[in-house]
Amino acid sequence: MTDSGATPTSLTEHEARDRAALLDVDRYDIRIDLRELADGERWLATSSIVFSCRRPGTSTFVDIDGEVLSATLNDIELDVSKHAGGRLPLPRLAAENMLTVSSVQTDTGSGNAILRSVDPQDKLVYVWSTFEPDGAHRAWACFDQPDLKAVHGFQVSAPTEWTVLSNSAAEVVLDRDDGGRLWIFEDTPRLSSYVVVVNAGPFHAMRDFRGGFSLGLYCRQSLRPFLERDAAELFELTEQGLTFFGERFARPFGQERYDQVFVPDFGGAMENWGCITWADSFLHRVPPTYAQRGFRALVLLHEMAHQWFGDLVTMRWWDDLWLNEAFASFASAWASVSATEFTDAWAAFLAQEQLPAYEQDAGPASHPIRSAVPDVDHAFASFDAITYFKGQAVLHQLMALLGEDTFAQGLQRYFDAHAWGNATLDDLIDALGTAAGRDLSSWTASWLDRAGTDTMSLVGTTLLTSSPDGGEPRRHALRIGSYARTPDGLAPVEVRALETAGTTTFLLDLPVADLHLINDGDLTFASVRADERSLSVLLAEAAQLPDPVNRALAVSTCWDMLFKGELSTGDFLDCVLAVLATESSPGVVQPLFTLALRAAEQWSPAVLVPRRLTRLAEVAAARADQPEHRLPALQTLAAAATAPEHFELLDAAATDDVDLAWRVEVRRASLGRYDEAAVAALLARDPDPDARVRAWGVSAARPLEEAKAEAWDRVWRERAVPAGQPLVDFAQCFWRPVQHELVLPWAHRYLDEVAEVSGGGLLALSGLVRHMRPTTADQEWLGRAQDLTEGDALAPAIRTVVRIVADQLTRMLDARA
Ligand SMILES: [Zn+2]
Repeated sequence: MTDSGATPTSLTEHEARDRAALLDVDRYDIRIDLRELADGERWLATSSIVFSCRRPGTSTFVDIDGEVLSATLNDIELDVSKHAGGRLPLPRLAAENMLTVSSVQTDTGSGNAILRSVDPQDKLVYVWSTFEPDGAHRAWACFDQPDLKAVHGFQVSAPTEWTVLSNSAAEVVLDRDDGGRLWIFEDTPRLSSYVVVVNAGPFHAMRDFRGGFSLGLYCRQSLRPFLERDAAELFELTEQGLTFFGERFARPFGQERYDQVFVPDFGGAMENWGCITWADSFLHRVPPTYAQRGFRALVLLHEMAHQWFGDLVTMRWWDDLWLNEAFASFASAWASVSATEFTDAWAAFLAQEQLPAYEQDAGPASHPIRSAVPDVDHAFASFDAITYFKGQAVLHQLMALLGEDTFAQGLQRYFDAHAWGNATLDDLIDALGTAAGRDLSSWTASWLDRAGTDTMSLVGTTLLTSSPDGGEPRRHALRIGSYARTPDGLAPVEVRALETAGTTTFLLDLPVADLHLINDGDLTFASVRADERSLSVLLAEAAQLPDPVNRALAVSTCWDMLFKGELSTGDFLDCVLAVLATESSPGVVQPLFTLALRAAEQWSPAVLVPRRLTRLAEVAAARADQPEHRLPALQTLAAAATAPEHFELLDAAATDDVDLAWRVEVRRASLGRYDEAAVAALLARDPDPDARVRAWGVSAARPLEEAKAEAWDRVWRERAVPAGQPLVDFAQCFWRPVQHELVLPWAHRYLDEVAEVSGGGLLALSGLVRHMRPTTADQEWLGRAQDLTEGDALAPAIRTVVRIVADQLTRMLDARA
């Protein structure tokens, strides 16, 4: 018996390559005993691995981080005292091998691979796993790299009252003589170690059979009413997505069963084959807004797209992680507009996700979309807005360049050639290029290997394109829309499709128009700058454009100018508030309200903040009686309310909306009107098992030193605020921009914490650092942040976050001055 002792060694690409060249893994049989987890922390596993070795007599290692109880290789006992750094040496391999390793893991609280959670309301215990990039070897022994795929057969012992869920369907469930039940699952297809999963607990289950698939939805018992409320919509979206992808990829999803499991204290969702895990904050505790439903649909479709792109065909190494993620995000928007009710997904994407990508690409944390990943610890280092959202926009651009049908044919080629195996970016580009009859190598180099955003501007009838590094700009496939003022708004005179080459593109016969909109329809990823006349129309009359994508494009262009110091916050607010006064597309309304709030609160000089918040509040109040826009309007009003009539309106609306009621109390508390009795009443009224976190948020918003100190401990010391959306909301309560003087020392504390943060998975830590970022700073803070990011003290993923935060704060301080 031995403990892994030292910090686990991060697998390098070199080691992974060597091991993949040496081994072929046939199958894993994994027996897990979860019975002690009902009231303890021990997770026991025995992993039996059948694999072959191409050079018998050589040695390698298996990954296992935990306590190894025993290990045999080809019936010979291994010396487990050699287990160190998360690796157990495997000496003198035979041509065909059988390895069996028994291990125990007791780290089920840090969010690292295995998580055990106790529901605060009913005290029921739930256990789930999440392994990307290399968590699987914290649960059992395995060759933990994406290109050693194998069949997995799971046998899980669990307390009698628990349901166990894994990638495939349970074949049989037996009562065990020594207590509990044994769940035996069907073999999976060949899967990478990071997409297998075991979830267990007394879940509430809902199942339906649709479109040839057996669909399951699971959640904690305490969230049952929220799942039941939304199940019909989730089942329908799941069916729509499976049908769309099955047709577009010319290959149906590879098994009948498709489960989605909502688990506590989790950020985001994970694409485990056939068994998606979701943060259960997606089961909104009050009926979700259109934008929340639209975003949830995107997440559902994103994880589903991974079943093909990621699980069926898997990246060879983590340097293509960006492609895995960008593709899934791209495909989710594609499916959303093509197959679901959320047809404005590209407009919402622009307003919500593409903007952060433009922001990051303009600052010091810019990087090429793809980059080398020397070891697993660096897999998530560039897991950011560029990886996901610029990558997504660039794939959208590639589809615009090739045409949708050709693009789909290329994907079919790719899936056919590499099904159940591994592939690289070059394999994808080859398949697409062959389908299109086009050499895409220069496209790859210019879009994926160069950082920064091209700028396009119109001078007369000449479209100028420039690259930030002064080099040859990329080739862009785009549209230019020319619009004339009419009594009914801006009407298109012409929408022209073109491909640019080099710096100068002549637009012959460009019609006379009041507004020439570069990148009409948002097909390419570029900063666009309108000519002078078009800009004045854009600023004043963007609301009159006929398409929500173009209205979002107009506002994004103005935001890009504000971000780069070319437009004042006041001019930006004029533009966005005019659009918000009439915007009809609900997918755009909510992100634009968020952007307007950011500008008014964080990008305005302190003396102007109250007046600007009042303007925003008036626009929000005016939209609150329109059913489609009511929720985002009221939520914005709750964040910006200043006048007594705002609070009257909010209090009336909050009588049957407990979420809004919490938001109003946060606003009151931040203005120094904390009402303890109101908080107690809300706690009693709120059916959410995590409602205490909302109460902590109200408390954290108070303009009091002790309130900030208490909130700080909850986040950094106790780690008591659940990851994901609850932490985002809590951080917003804490960092009230109007409390600049009070929170400034805490902004400095943030840098101390960041330098010392440890414990928990890297994803959880970078989420913590990202979500708790300050919204104010001073020059000293900026200097400290720079020193910190220039040294080696920070993990790469965390350094990236701090760089982005520092760049934003620098620009914000400039705009406030
Ligand atoms: Zn993903």
